[in-house]
Amino acid sequence: GFKMGIVGLPNVGKSTLFNALTRTAAAQAANFPFCTIEPNVGEVNVPDARLDALARIASSKQIIPTRMTFVDIAGLVKGASKGEGLGNQFLANIRETDAIAHVLRCFEDGDVTHVDGRVDPVADAETIETELMLADLESIEKRRAGLVRKLKGNDKEAQQQDRLLADAQAAIEDGRPARTVDVDAEDRRAWKLLQLLTSKPVLYVCNVSEEEAATGNAHSEAVAAMAAAQGNAHVLISARIEEEISQLDAEESEMFLSEMGLEEPGLDRLIRAGYALLHLETYFTVGPKEARAWTIREGTSAPQAAGVIHGDFEKGFIRAETIAFDDFVACKGEAGAKEAGKMRAEGKAYIVKDGDVLHFLFNT
Ligand code: GDP
Repeated sequence: GFKMGIVGLPNVGKSTLFNALTRTAAAQAANFPFCTIEPNVGEVNVPDARLDALARIASSKQIIPTRMTFVDIAGLVKGASKGEGLGNQFLANIRETDAIAHVLRCFEDGDVTHVDGRVDPVADAETIETELMLADLESIEKRRAGLVRKLKGNDKEAQQQDRLLADAQAAIEDGRPARTVDVDAEDRRAWKLLQLLTSKPVLYVCNVSEEEAATGNAHSEAVAAMAAAQGNAHVLISARIEEEISQLDAEESEMFLSEMGLEEPGLDRLIRAGYALLHLETYFTVGPKEARAWTIREGTSAPQAAGVIHGDFEKGFIRAETIAFDDFVACKGEAGAKEAGKMRAEGKAYIVKDGDVLHFLFNT
C-alpha cells in the first residue's frame, strides 16, 4: 500500500490530526476495522463517492473502499539530523514513506507553546526542510564513499548511483531539496531506490483554528504562496475540528460541518491531496457481492492492475472487460453498458484509466 508520513515540529497538531484520521467513522467501516499496526501507524479508507454510486446501481452487498496508510512521525526537532530528539529512528521512518504530509502550525494560541516562541509556518517549514537536507547530505556522503571501490571496478550500477547521488548533493549544497533535481526517465527507478528524504513529494497541511477552517488566515496564505513557488501542494485543515468530527456519526458530522461553513471533512481533502501528490488512481470491481476500489499508479497497464488483486490475475491475464465510470452510471449498470456498446475488451497493452470499472479474464 501507499504510505504517507506525517511530520512537523512539536506542538503543531500532528497527533491531533493523526488521531482524527484513524479514529474517524470512515476508518472504522465495518469491512476493515481500523487496525493499529503500531501505535503510530494507521490505515484509513479513501473516501470516493463514485464507489457508493456504483454499489447502489449494482445493489452490491458490500462496499470496500481502497486504503491508505498514515504514519505519525514524531520527534523532528532542530538538530534531528545530528541525532537530537528521536534522531535516526525518526529519519528511518521517513525513508520508508512514499510522501510527506508536513503539518504547519497556522493557529495562534498563547496556551500552546511553540518550540521557537513564535508562530511562523514558513520558517518552520524551512527548519524541517533544512534538517532533512542535512540528513540527506550525510547519507549521500557516506554512500558515495562506500561506492568508491565499485567505481574503480567500472560497475555500471555503481556509476549510475554515484551520478545520481552527485546530482542530489549538488542541489542540496546549493540549498535546494533533492526533489528539485531533473531525473531522466531511465534513471527514475534507481533514483527512487536512493530513498532520499528530500526527494519525496511534500504536502503542506496548514493547521488553522476552528474559526478559520473555511477561510484560512495570513499564515496559511503565506504557506500557500511558498508551496506554489516550490511546486508543492497544500491543504487547509483544522485538526481540532477533525478531532471533533471523528467522534460524530455521519448525520451529526454533516450538521457540524455546515455550521462551520465546510462542505466536507478536511480529512477527505487531505487524503485526496495525498492521492494526487502520489499520482495515484482508482479503478473499481463491481458485482452483486461487493463493489470495491483498488489503487494503482498513473500509467498502470491492465495486467499490472489485475496484479493488485492477485498475482495470478497478472500472470494469467487474458483481457479486461472495461466500462468507464460515467458510462456505467449513464447506462445504469453492466448490462445496460454492454447493450449500448460501452463495454470494451482491452488487452495487455491497455493503460487503465481512473474510474474504470474492470472485470478481468485470466487463465489459472
Ligand atoms: P504534536 O506535538 O504536533 O503532535 O501536537 P499535538 O497534536 O499534540 O497538539 C499540541 C497542542 O496543540 C495540543 O494541546 C492540541 O490540543 C493543540 N492544538 C492542535 N491544533 C490546534 C488548533 O487548531 N488550535 C488550538 N488552539 N490548539 C490546537
